[in-house]
Amino acid sequence: MKIVHISAECYPAAKAGGLADVVGSLPKYQNIAGHESSVIMPHYYTRFRNDNLFEQLFQGSAKIGRHDYPFKVFKLLQNPIGFELFSIEIPGLFDRERIYSYHDDTERFITFQVAALNWMKEWEILPEIVHCHDQHTGFVPFMIANIYEYGRLKEIPTVFTIHNGQYQGQFGFDRMHYLPPFHSFFTGLIEWDKAINPLASAIKCAWEVTTVSPSYMDEIGESMNGLEPLLRAERGKSKGILNGIDVEVWNPATDAMLEKNYTLKTVESGKKANKKWLCDQFNLDTKKPLFTFIGRLVGEKGADLLPEVIYQTLSQHHDKLNVLILGSGERHIEQALWDLEPQFKGNYCSYIGYNEKLSHVIYAGADFLLMPSRVEPCGLNQLYALRYGTVPVVRRTGGLRDTVTDIGDQGFGICHDQCVTWDIKQAIERAMNLYDAADEFKNIRKQIMQIDHSWNRAALEYIELYQTIKK
Ligand code: ADP
Repeated sequence: MKIVHISAECYPAAKAGGLADVVGSLPKYQNIAGHESSVIMPHYYTRFRNDNLFEQLFQGSAKIGRHDYPFKVFKLLQNPIGFELFSIEIPGLFDRERIYSYHDDTERFITFQVAALNWMKEWEILPEIVHCHDQHTGFVPFMIANIYEYGRLKEIPTVFTIHNGQYQGQFGFDRMHYLPPFHSFFTGLIEWDKAINPLASAIKCAWEVTTVSPSYMDEIGESMNGLEPLLRAERGKSKGILNGIDVEVWNPATDAMLEKNYTLKTVESGKKANKKWLCDQFNLDTKKPLFTFIGRLVGEKGADLLPEVIYQTLSQHHDKLNVLILGSGERHIEQALWDLEPQFKGNYCSYIGYNEKLSHVIYAGADFLLMPSRVEPCGLNQLYALRYGTVPVVRRTGGLRDTVTDIGDQGFGICHDQCVTWDIKQAIERAMNLYDAADEFKNIRKQIMQIDHSWNRAALEYIELYQTIKK
């Protein structure tokens, strides 16, 4: 089957979070299963662009309002990533380093979607499935089905995956001219709550809607920033498919970013060496259990509670644990995490920023990974942690509920119910007890490293879904 993914992120070309990891690995596993899966994304001016060779395939223009943006389509050459990667260069909009958080993001991503379809309608052989990801590509299903100019694409079934329903990309009708002209009869398909909403539009127009875990699918029907009734109405064409991970990129036996590689047999010495490197770097103590958090420092991840949790836990159990944070996000959380450092020197450290290598060493060297998320569509961090023998300490929500079972229920992780300081602190204390039960802890490490969360299963689930709508 010929499948095209359209996304704002794709690892290793551009990554802000889990979306990049999924779009950077799902197509690879679909290809391994015998299909022809590729990715179209914007051509950002990142390091990846400078370090790699691209071939120009196409040149065109995308008209947004009165502005005609010329664009070029590039294909990645010497491709080691397992699928064809096409990127669209749009001068004035994507010749920037960051992926998001510009004042003109609405215009940027609509132009990208229009450019992608302007190019696709010229293809000799059309895809059998167009699979879009998150609100930045949310107008694609609508445009394919309802815009005259894309009549040649009209019959292509579209799938839309909600990786994060919190970000909907809504904007006012004063900017409706950003979209190509269409019959006013269809306006309802882009509208939600008196605004233009690309996420809502995708849920209405895609042939199938998926979320990245079954539990998240259930939860968003109850809580998703106002879209709940729409999700409930479209439940019949919606499905939760749990994400997989790329077990070649995320493999402690071969991961080139680690200080020391390890297997199931050498897990104790391997984790010890990575922990030592971390402790040397961050002035921590290798003998204490190392708790970590990796991720966006935002309320959704429960990160706003971390400063208080760390303060209370380290005040009470001063010499019994170490905490290391890697993340960036809301300024006040970053500041609060920094402010704790002088007080707990030797037991706590934070690295504010994005650092891919460090994240890998932390998954390998830490003993416990904290994920107190308020909302977690799937969560990949806990899956990486499991693969690297690091015990997840998670709040039961979304994908965390689907992937981590508490040790009290004959499982392998520590789970708590509420995203509140007291509950998180208690979960940490339970983890400290587990660490002290050295034999049980070692066994759990070995057990979790063997859990299979590879894409093999999920890639096929998507293929089965495509088969049900394929022409
Ligand atoms: P999100 O909601 O942010 O997409 P996920 O758990 O799905 O959360 O994926 C997060 C991905 O981003 C993981 O690969 C994680 O290791 C990575 N990540 C998040 N923050 C950082 C950071 N500061 N440095 C390095 N990697 C990070």
